[in-house]
Parts: sequence; C-alpha cells; structure tokens
Amino acid sequence: MPYKPQITDVTKAGSNEKEGLYEFIIHLADGTDCRVFYNRFPEWKMTALSRLGKVPCPVCRKDFICKCMDRFSDDFDQQMRDGEWLNKAVESE
Ligand SMILES: [Zn+2]
Repeated sequence: MPYKPQITDVTKAGSNEKEGLYEFIIHLADGTDCRVFYNRFPEWKMTALSRLGKVPCPVCRKDFICKCMDRFSDDFDQQMRDGEWLNKAVESE
C-alpha cells in the first residue's frame, strides 16, 4: 500500500516573525515526526522538510536520515493549508 502521510498535529518550534521564518514540528498519525521550515513572505512557502529520527521511517524502515519524506513535500504542504495548520500553529503561543 502506498504511504500516505496524515497530519494530526503541528507545533511551532521556532520563528523569526520579522523575517517571516517559521519552524514547525509535524506529528503524523503513524507516530512519525517531521521538521518543516516555512517562509511566509510574500506567501507561505515550505523551504525545507526533514524527518525526525525518533522512530524508523514509515517508508523505508531506516532509523537514520533518509530522503523518503521529500517525495511527500507537496502532500504535507497541501495538508498544512487545508487543515489551516499554519495559522493554528502560528497563533498558538
Ligand atoms: Zn525512508
């Protein structure tokens, strides 16, 4: 079955609001956590995505750095927008 990431929660890990730079931790339904960076100027744009190595990769099962999640960056980005995670995470101070 092809892997399909499902965002269940997003927390803000860091930000530089003046520059419009944000770091979020994305929590997925399967226990995988990913770190993403966004630049909100002139509009929200994902600039980096990486899996956090707490649990093995759900795609290749490696427990070290891999590039699998890169393939899903568009999917992540779409879910971040559809679920309004960007706004929710930014406002959760
Ligand atoms: Zn992998």
